[in-house]
Amino acid sequence: MSTPTPQLPPLKLFINGEWVDARSGATLSTVNPATGQPIAQVASADAQDVDLAVRSARAAFEKGPWAKAPPMARSRVLTRIADMIEARGEELAALESLDNGKPVSAARMADIPSAANVFRYMAGWATRMEGEQLPLAGRPQGQFLAYTQRDPMGVVGQIVPWNFPLLMAAWKVAPALAFGCASILKPAEQTPLTAAALVAIAHEAGVPPGQLNLIQGLGHSSGAAIVAHPDVDKIAFTGSTEVGKMIVRSGSDTLKRISLELGGKSPVIVMGDADLDAAVKGAAHAIFFNQGQVCTAGSRLYVHESIYDKFVERLVAVASALKIGPGLDPDTQIGPLVSDEQLRRVAGYVDIGRKEGAGVAVGGEAVGGAGYFYRPTILTDVRQSMRVVQEEIFGPVLVATRFKEVDEVVAHANNSIYGLAASIWTRDVSRAHAVARAVQAGTVWINCHHVMDAAMPFGGYKESGWGREMGSAALEMYTEPKTVCIQL
Ligand code: ADP
Repeated sequence: MSTPTPQLPPLKLFINGEWVDARSGATLSTVNPATGQPIAQVASADAQDVDLAVRSARAAFEKGPWAKAPPMARSRVLTRIADMIEARGEELAALESLDNGKPVSAARMADIPSAANVFRYMAGWATRMEGEQLPLAGRPQGQFLAYTQRDPMGVVGQIVPWNFPLLMAAWKVAPALAFGCASILKPAEQTPLTAAALVAIAHEAGVPPGQLNLIQGLGHSSGAAIVAHPDVDKIAFTGSTEVGKMIVRSGSDTLKRISLELGGKSPVIVMGDADLDAAVKGAAHAIFFNQGQVCTAGSRLYVHESIYDKFVERLVAVASALKIGPGLDPDTQIGPLVSDEQLRRVAGYVDIGRKEGAGVAVGGEAVGGAGYFYRPTILTDVRQSMRVVQEEIFGPVLVATRFKEVDEVVAHANNSIYGLAASIWTRDVSRAHAVARAVQAGTVWINCHHVMDAAMPFGGYKESGWGREMGSAALEMYTEPKTVCIQL
């Protein structure tokens, strides 16, 4: 299953418009998850590099041309970045597949065009930093003029995960730049490649020095240093709930703004009247897309008892037929997991499920040999209290439950510390809306799953996060409202 791993030149940090080594000289290596072989050496930053990046961002924000430029000038640069991502789509898709392991077909269809779309969409928001004129309630009219305006939030630390490296970087960087913020972007240590490519593209497209800085390195050193830095105004984080809580604790010392997009255990609810073909295909996509390493993975399946046996049988057939292989093979449908650590985590959870009494309908084992491959897995006979039902596995592992009543399945769906997403599969329009209303989730899909769009605000209820990204919600993320009142 192994293919030769290309060796890429060393990657540096990007601070104040220049590519530099970490001050300490430290490096880490990023590996090809299909083989376990190193791909490139990467500068590994610590607090002193972060401090330089923050200083450069602060200077760019306060004195540089970007925030003061006509918003249309920012729009034009963001559109140029979108064009350049599209023009380099093949190369970026290959890098993403090499670094993360994901099928290159998925990177081509989803990651890369979606990243370009985010820049294209956010280009429009640069010209929409609007406030309101406020008629005062308790004063005679005509004596005061009051209005709100929106100011860019300032220097923002943007920490992203390894599951959609370029796309998550785009979600962070595009709105921050649109509204005039200066950014310090930190990709995950497992997947540093496309963030470096994005920063190079942004620089070439016309983002001035200091406005977008790149810090590579480990979470507990460089990531933690960004969060702790007193001159960072806001942290935007996507990653695990555990690290999200650490960020809240550390960020509270300086009361910086914090937005969090965290874990999930999203339910897929299939009613007895669902279009069976579409629902089976949809449920497979919900859990197996990106090897299940998706925060919105549909990892809990609830199927009405009238169709449960048939449904699971068909889903098992789909899971067994998925082609497992290196991401760079164009026919691959399931690539390796991102790392050895992730493989051990997923395998460990399936073992826990077995010990708790779950049945394994398909999968339940690593492929073996080189690389971090795990077979698509469906666990049945689960109880709602089991750890495999309650905890996020972040791999291709689905737990399946049958239900009888709608109230019962809504209660199961909401019996979770998470509330990121859900999907409902039914032909009954009224019931679809009623269940969508009752489910506690930031996004509810009806007869689809994983449909994301730059225009749709995204984020979670409960321990799935704080705040919403994308759509008009981006304005709340990266601007501070200011109220101005004038005595006439
Ligand atoms: P996962 O568990 O899926 O690897 P993490 O939440 O650990 O996800 O990582 C997401 C991002 O957060 C990565 O860029 C990682 O380097 C960073 N990170 C990890 N730990 C910390 C921390 N203590 N402070 C700031 N960032 C961190």
